[in-house]
Amino acid sequence: MAKFIYLDGELVPPEEAKVSVFDHGLLYGDGVFEGIRVYNGRVFRLEDHLHRLYDSAHAINLRIPLSVEEMQEAVLQTVRANELQDAYIRLVVTRGPGDLGLDPTKCTKPTIFIIVDAISLYPQEFYEKGLSLITCSTRRNVAEALDPSIKSLNYLNNICAKIETIHAGVPEGIMLSTGGYVTECTGDNIFVVEHEQIITPPVSIGTLGGITARTVIELAEEMGIRVRIEPFRMMTVYTADEVFLTGTAAEIVPVAQVDGRKIGTETPGPITRQFMTRFKEITRSTGTPVYE
Ligand code: PMP
Repeated sequence: MAKFIYLDGELVPPEEAKVSVFDHGLLYGDGVFEGIRVYNGRVFRLEDHLHRLYDSAHAINLRIPLSVEEMQEAVLQTVRANELQDAYIRLVVTRGPGDLGLDPTKCTKPTIFIIVDAISLYPQEFYEKGLSLITCSTRRNVAEALDPSIKSLNYLNNICAKIETIHAGVPEGIMLSTGGYVTECTGDNIFVVEHEQIITPPVSIGTLGGITARTVIELAEEMGIRVRIEPFRMMTVYTADEVFLTGTAAEIVPVAQVDGRKIGTETPGPITRQFMTRFKEITRSTGTPVYE
């Protein structure tokens, strides 16, 4: 349980961390957020997360009333107040309280809160044996309506897909574009391994530009593994040698089965295993120090 929540410049106990019912983050999902990890007293890829937060805010015309440096300090201060070495950070900026209409200009002060809590991980079994996935019938939002590369508070699209996975009794599901291309999962990016190369869909097909995915791409370059960023359909997933998902909370998680089809010959496959090992090393040895 978190000890202190950052709320609009103050550190308050969780029971005092309350936002207005007129907040447009609550009324309309009008806001942006980030999920960030602390490993071993260091915040992993903090700059990248802040960059994505400010880009998302800019895309929805939301001016964050803190500079990036001030926001970075607010994050570090909140981790320190909670005295955790390993944690999950949820950083949220909403349009703020307004009236009951849509008009965001009525919201004069964005709400900023930061929650730092112990991370609840996927069960170890998922990493050892792999996940089962389904293909969701809910398609990923089209960029022409709400660009999935904006990490907004409006997650209903993903939640509807998540409900399908719950009904199917599996932990994650693949979301397709309206054209039938693989985009991502409800809260993770997807990679397939084919002929010792890794393939992941481009952000332009309708995905969130994942920071874990970017880390994997950088690691692949270091490891001499070719990366292809290109659109593909479910056939490529079904016939892949390996499939894995990436996300801040999930890290790198192997996939054993998709829509009842077994993936590859072993789970995790050798390439996925290499990424899991390298990722563990890099998360434990890099990042912005919290306590120095
Ligand atoms: N796609 C979606 C829809 C997500 O919500 C997330 C998790 N934030 C990701 C991908 C993975 O992104 P990241 O590696 O930055 O956590």
